[in-house]
Amino acid sequence: MPDPTQPTGIVRTVCGDRPAAEFSAVMVHEHLLYDIVPPGQRADEAGTEIGLGNRWQIDYLSNRTAANARQTDRGIAAEELAAFVADGGDLIVDQSVGGLARDAEGLAAASRASGCAVVAAAGTYTAAYLDAKTRAASAEALTARFVEEITVGLDGTTIRAGLIGEIGCSWPLEDCERRALVAAARAAQATGSGISVHPGRDPRAPFEIVEILAAEGADLGRVAICHMDRTYPEGAGADGHGPLALARLGVMVEWDFFGVETSHYWMDPEVELPTDRGRLRAIRALIDAGLRSRILVSHDICTRTRTLRWGGHGYGHFLRNVVPMMRRLGFTAEDVAHLVRLNPLGLLAMPRVATIPETAR
Ligand SMILES: [Zn+2]
Repeated sequence: MPDPTQPTGIVRTVCGDRPAAEFSAVMVHEHLLYDIVPPGQRADEAGTEIGLGNRWQIDYLSNRTAANARQTDRGIAAEELAAFVADGGDLIVDQSVGGLARDAEGLAAASRASGCAVVAAAGTYTAAYLDAKTRAASAEALTARFVEEITVGLDGTTIRAGLIGEIGCSWPLEDCERRALVAAARAAQATGSGISVHPGRDPRAPFEIVEILAAEGADLGRVAICHMDRTYPEGAGADGHGPLALARLGVMVEWDFFGVETSHYWMDPEVELPTDRGRLRAIRALIDAGLRSRILVSHDICTRTRTLRWGGHGYGHFLRNVVPMMRRLGFTAEDVAHLVRLNPLGLLAMPRVATIPETAR
């Protein structure tokens, strides 16, 4: 009998396939090596040095400073991963897809240097980050690309992706983003990979995305909808809208701004953001509604000032600070295990038969 408390299947890391059951603490939506400055603004280097005198202000405006929204140093990625291991973590998913300066070899080097497992991502980000050829690509061409990224290698390497996405979506949805969603659904079925989607900011966006994926036959139980924090800042919502309604459709809903405690969303000052306590309130509501297996958490670190090196909380914040807070607030050990282990591994774990063909006996 398979043990229901043990994840099954394999996790495809940048250093090879490993049994999912080996991992104990996962941050499922992070960025280690990335450039999230939109291509049109990349010339604006500014050469800003981040130091004690300016880091708070740069962090407050988040990715408005180009120098803050880019981290391409493999040595720093390795240091941050080693600190995550010291906080009890053992697996990080870098969801830097095509368009965000994905660096598969860099991730493998940082993983080897730190001893922390890393999963890289197949897929494409929002239209604004894509070249003309990718924007024009058919759903069939994108499907073939995503399948190759998972089964052959990323960007000309032999390092393979272990998750599709975050697939970038705008609001309203661009045609090329719709094709990427179709391709993600098809590539997931061909490979056994899970899917992660960055939705547009409109509260209707996640529901439209789920409809598109479902129409293509995607396994909604292994679909993560990211960024609940800024899409539904009011919290869990109620019947018919918000994270509760989304989770009831069968997808996983992800609060991935843990560690961000500013009053408003840097991309849209009209959007009030929850604090970590507020995130946990929304999560509590989903657990009480019987949806514990549908919840994901992470930090989505995509600026330097959120890493330890530049005075931030680092990839271990959830394990170091939020888990003890959960225990104080009455969350159980099982709740914690679902958030940091079972649910993310449920998204990531590929059925063994789909990736390691059994040889003749
Ligand atoms: Zn992200």
